[in-house]
Formats: sequence, structure tokens, C-alpha cells
Amino acid sequence: MVDAAALVSSLRKTFDGGRTRPLSFRLGQLAALQRMIEEREGEILEALRVDVGKPRMEAYVAELGFVLGEIAMVKKKLPAWTRPERVATPASTQPARAEIHKDPLGVVLLIGPWNYPFQLVVAPLIGAIAAGNCAVVKPSEMTPNVSALLARLLPQYLDPDVVKVVEGGVAETTALLEQRFDHIFYTGNGTVGRVVMGAAAKHLTPVTLELGGKSPCIVDKEADLDVGVRRIVWGKYFNAGQTCIAPDYVLAHASIHDKLLDRLRETIREFYGDDPQRSPDYARIVNARHHQRLSRLLGEGEAVTEIKAVEAERYLSPVVLRDVPETAKVMHEEIFGPILPVLKVHDMDEAISFVNRRDKPLALYVFSENEGVQREVIDRTTSGGATVNHTGMHFGVPNLPFGGVGESGMGAYHGKLTFDTFTHRRAVLIKPTFLDASVIYPPYTSLKEKIIRMLL
Ligand code: NAD
Repeated sequence: MVDAAALVSSLRKTFDGGRTRPLSFRLGQLAALQRMIEEREGEILEALRVDVGKPRMEAYVAELGFVLGEIAMVKKKLPAWTRPERVATPASTQPARAEIHKDPLGVVLLIGPWNYPFQLVVAPLIGAIAAGNCAVVKPSEMTPNVSALLARLLPQYLDPDVVKVVEGGVAETTALLEQRFDHIFYTGNGTVGRVVMGAAAKHLTPVTLELGGKSPCIVDKEADLDVGVRRIVWGKYFNAGQTCIAPDYVLAHASIHDKLLDRLRETIREFYGDDPQRSPDYARIVNARHHQRLSRLLGEGEAVTEIKAVEAERYLSPVVLRDVPETAKVMHEEIFGPILPVLKVHDMDEAISFVNRRDKPLALYVFSENEGVQREVIDRTTSGGATVNHTGMHFGVPNLPFGGVGESGMGAYHGKLTFDTFTHRRAVLIKPTFLDASVIYPPYTSLKEKIIRMLL
């Protein structure tokens, strides 16, 4: 097993030596990361196919394409982001120059999950490098091919004294968490999120927790069902539902409920054919344990699509359920698979109160052509992020913060926010010595106090 203490102390030595600080070094590492993705695209796509059966298009869009976009943006903006920011000084501190410096934090730990096993460690790594840190990358052990590939490629392309990959599961992560880091960035479920935060607390290490939950999808009576259903089916069955921001369940207005179910069934057939098992565009469940977990969620409600589960192939067909009671198991845990319960609501008040009675979700979707309804749903609920009339799309806007709230996590990233996550905004005040007003020094007099009162 890895000697976590020695590993972290070697990274700290590199950081203290100042190698990661120059802008040129950071830009060079980002260019190398970009080169790695471009040159090794075939190997990365293949590892994603073997581990999660990811269709090529989905793997490119959500894993490689997204990350390449982030690198291109960061390379362009980094010179401006790293420059000290000049701010105004009040009369009481003048003459002086006040600046915000962008200090790297030091050595950071990035822990990733299995559902987007490449993107979800590489996207935070871009920010960690851009901000001038050393990093330990801990990919998920549930996607062993992607994990092994990252362990082989990252040290080949990046400075191996600056970025280290640790492979493994609970034992290895526990050993890492015993060390002192300057930031821990964790993506995964809330149970482990609590373990990570507990370990971080011992060292007063700040954390970003990118967690999950049940993201609702509200379909109003004034929704454009033709477009809306295509977008719901795409967002739900992309990566076979194993997406943290996939619509978890639908709350459909009673007046369009039956029509919506018909359209869902038709669109699934249109996208994946009569037998989705044979579709090259439909992913697999990550492992047998999750396959069994999903099968156990299927007892309640009535299926309006054919249910086909082939454990040996980790295949589960796209399932739509109707008449699901609120008490059903499928309504009590994050589904994280290709099962979509559709529940009936009679108005938007009912939908909003359904959402607000539950944990704050990572994402929320509302489909309506009525701007008043869109606004009402957004204003009267909360969630990590939201998209109106589409699913998952807010994720792809680099200027929008991506993260959860409450049970769905804390902290946010993407674009400049990833750089900010791994940066300490340090207050620096530079005073000249040519003027040294004695008004603040003892002995204090009533005249000095009068002057101070005027200045403050
Ligand atoms: P996972 O099982 O791969 O675990 C995530 C990481 O935690 C892994 O690296 C694993 O080794 C580590 N880990 C597991 N048990 C541990 C322990 N006891 N102590 C220390 N480390 C441990 O992935 P998962 O948690 O099943 O991922 C799915 C969850 O992640 C879902 O809830 C999903 O919504 C959420 N998710 C959130 C986002 C987001 O960006 N907010 C993205 C993807 C997934």
C-alpha cells in the first residue's frame, strides 16, 4: 500500500521549493494535459467503454470535450486571473496600495467517483494546477481501467513531482485522509462526504463536497412536450442514468400526465430502438452491485416500458414507472440509473411543496412555455443549479457555478471558480514610509481622537 505520509511530504517539498508558482510552469502543465488528452483520446475512450460501457459520443461530450474546453479557457484567462487585483483604500490607511494576491493553497487532494471517472478528477485538477498547487489524484476504484490509465498517463505528461495518482479504495483513501492537505475536493455520495469532512476537520482543511441527491423534473401543463420529452429522455438515459444531475423523477401536471408517458415511451424507442440492449448508444451499469441495487427499486409502480435486466452484461433497459406511491423505495434514494418514476401533480403549488419537503437537490428542471410558471418554480425552490426547458445543460456553462446546496454539497467550481477554489485571496497592503502620521500613536489626546473620528 502507498506510503501516504511520504507521498504528501514529497509533494510539500516540491511546493515549498516554489516550482509550481511561475505562470509559465502552470501554462506548460495545462498544455501537457491538453496534449495528453489529444494524443491518448483512443485509449481514454476505450477505458471508459470497458468500465461503464460508455457510448463514444457520450464519453467524448461529457468527459474529454468538456475538459478540453475548460483547459482552453483557463489557458487564455490565467494571466489575468493570477495578476494581483488592485483595490481602493480608505482615507484612514492612505497613502498605501491595497492588493489581492492569488496565492496557491499548497498540496490538495482530489477524490473522484466512477460515473464520469475521467472528467470528475481532471476538471478539478485543471484548477489545482492553474492555481499553482501540487495535487494527489485519487480516482474511483470502481472504474479500474480509467483509474489505471490515469495512473500511467498523468505522470508521463505532467511533472511527476507535482501531480501524483494514488489508486485504490477505502483503505488507500483513508490513509490519504489522515494526512494534512490544504484543500480536499471530493465528488461522490453524501455518506462518504461526511467521512471526508470529518477527516478534514481534524486538520482544519477546507473541503469542496460535490454530492448528489434526487433532482426533480417538473413538467407543467403548458410545456412543449415534443421538445421537452426529447430533452428529458436524453438527460435521464445519458450514461444509463448514472449522472449526478440526471432528472431523478418527474412531477407531471395531471392534464398532460398520460400524454407525457406516451411520448416518453415513443422517444425511448426513437433514441434506442426496439431493443435498447443492442443500441450502441446506451451505456451499461457500472457493476453487479449497482445492477442489483437498481433491480431492487423496481417493485413498486407500474412500468410503462419493458423491463429487461441482464446482470451478466450489466444491462438494464430504460424504464419509466407510473403510479408510484410517494412511499416507494424508488422515491427515497437517489436512483442513479435508468429508472424514471413519473408522479402526478394537480398544480405547481403541489409540485413546489413536494420538492421543498425533501433535501435540497443538486439540480432542478422545469418545463413550461409560461415564463410566470418558470419564474415561480425557480423562485420558490432551491437547488445546486437549475435548467429551464432542458436537462443538465447548466453544467456546460463555464461561467455558472456548479455545485450543490445542503445535502447536495458545498462549494462550487467550473471556469474561474475552479481556479478560485484552489486559491487563497491574500490581502496585501503596501505602505510607503515617507509619511507617518502620529495621530494614531499614544499618547492619545482629545485632538487626536477628533481627527480619527473624522477619518474613519
Ligand atoms: P464511488 O463509490 O466511486 O466513491 C467516490 C470516491 O470515494 C471514490 O474515490 C472512493 O474510493 C472513495 N470512497 C469510497 N468509500 C470511502 C470511504 N469509506 N472513505 C474514504 N473514501 C471512500 O462513487 P459514488 O459515491 O458511488 O458516486 C456516486 C455519487 O456521487 C452519487 O450520489 C452522485 O450523485 C454523486 N456525484 C456527484 C457529482 C457532482 O458533481 N456533484 C458528480 C458525480 C457523482
